Amino acid sequence: MSSWHDRAATCRRPSAPFVGGATVAPLTDATFDSIGPRDGEVVATLPACGQQDVDRAVAAARAAFTDGRWREMAPSARKVVLHRFADLVEASADELALLETLDTGKPIGDTTSVDAPGAATTLRWYAEACDKVYGEVAPTGPDALATITREPMGVVAAIVPWNYPMIIAAWKLGPALATGNSVVIKPAEQSPMATIRLAELGHEAGLPPGVFNVLPGEGATGAALAEHPDVDKVTFTGSTATGRKVLAAAAGSNLKSVSLELGGKSPQVVFADAPDLDEAAETIAWGIFYNQGQTCHAGSRLIVEDAVADRVIAKVVEVARGLVPGDPLDEATQLGALVSREQYDRVVGYLDLANDEGAQLTLGGGSADPVAGGCYLEPTVLDRVGDDMRIAREEIFGPVLVVQRFDGSEAEALRLANGTVYGLAGAVWSADHGRAERVAAGIRAGAVYVNCFDVGDVTAPHGGFGASGFGGRDKSLHALEQYTELKTTWRQH
Ligand code: ADP
Repeated sequence: MSSWHDRAATCRRPSAPFVGGATVAPLTDATFDSIGPRDGEVVATLPACGQQDVDRAVAAARAAFTDGRWREMAPSARKVVLHRFADLVEASADELALLETLDTGKPIGDTTSVDAPGAATTLRWYAEACDKVYGEVAPTGPDALATITREPMGVVAAIVPWNYPMIIAAWKLGPALATGNSVVIKPAEQSPMATIRLAELGHEAGLPPGVFNVLPGEGATGAALAEHPDVDKVTFTGSTATGRKVLAAAAGSNLKSVSLELGGKSPQVVFADAPDLDEAAETIAWGIFYNQGQTCHAGSRLIVEDAVADRVIAKVVEVARGLVPGDPLDEATQLGALVSREQYDRVVGYLDLANDEGAQLTLGGGSADPVAGGCYLEPTVLDRVGDDMRIAREEIFGPVLVVQRFDGSEAEALRLANGTVYGLAGAVWSADHGRAERVAAGIRAGAVYVNCFDVGDVTAPHGGFGASGFGGRDKSLHALEQYTELKTTWRQH
């Protein structure tokens, strides 16, 4: 057994709510099991926090906001606390990574090198923002002075998904805390443990009680937060269907501010004149198969010019053959488990649909069994997919690439690229600078990559057009807008 297996057998598994600066007993008797997709065993049994738990956490967050224990702290002092928080996340990276791997089935090599360090980097970046963002002065005449400042919104509910639990929590926490809000996070029921541990570390770093609370629970806990009359803001990342419910809950309660980051079906548009077709194909393979395809901006549609389609697909297939699903606790594993049996069944349902719709199965389509009882799927490539097929339009959220071929015209490429309700990301591959710029401009998406994919860091915003969401962006200084209200103050001389 590797040391990760030993550590998994003995590690502490945080499972209680964290409210008002302490681990607390739940106010509900209801529980749920978090099932590890690695082997189908119960990872932890957690409270399914109910209305009373939600009321208590929101009250703790409200009390912290009202008395100003965090909001009124000097920005330079808030910065020190958030830096310490980032330090502790870094120092606990292995522990956090293991919790996340057990919950989600992600390879331990990814959670140690991407997820845990990514959360720390994000918190550190927003720590620095605390005392470096200025307000504005309006260009009034000489007889008036009008300042435009940003004020924290108050109590922020962050409802997060299971695909990148720690990183997405940090995308919300960083800007919300940097601007002086109090936060209640509802992690996904599949992946609560690392987020609960984050709250403990935040408290240890010096976040005052009530500023960062975590409520484990299922959808009903998220719904109670979205409906709560004393929550000022809900920031949600997850499926488009649940995003609609969150928006409706906000509209039906106190009209709280809502930011939604939802699904995607991102196109990779490859022209025959791409600078390096092999490199493009390799990037395209990683762009869909990384994290078992469970990435909202995954490049899940390959739109490739007929003249080079066979060659590009052959290279994607070659790369994909090397991605054999393995034990997530094995450091050599590059492809782990899908997050749950439910998600596995959903993806398999789409593979059945692909068959019914007449797509050509070029690679994969089968399950794998590196650990008995787990949820593993082979990387899958579906060719000859028509733009009217559901598999070309709906988010599959698994290791499945659909291929649509086109005749080489820019107009046709864009028609296909923009042929879904989503608009999260997209890419164009062409050595013709003018063409690359025209197509990049024509793709309706929050992020477009030219001759690359999924590069970038916390400095640039993340979010989508259309059914991929609205109401602000994660990452970058633009994320501060999600968590602040604009205030104008006039003085007449
Ligand atoms: P998936 O279907 O892929 O699990 P969801 O969008 O349902 O994704 O889940 C994202 C987050 O939203 C999770 O934390 C989940 O518990 C939460 N959630 C589910 N249903 C609701 C709801 N009705 N209101 C608010 N949050 C919800």
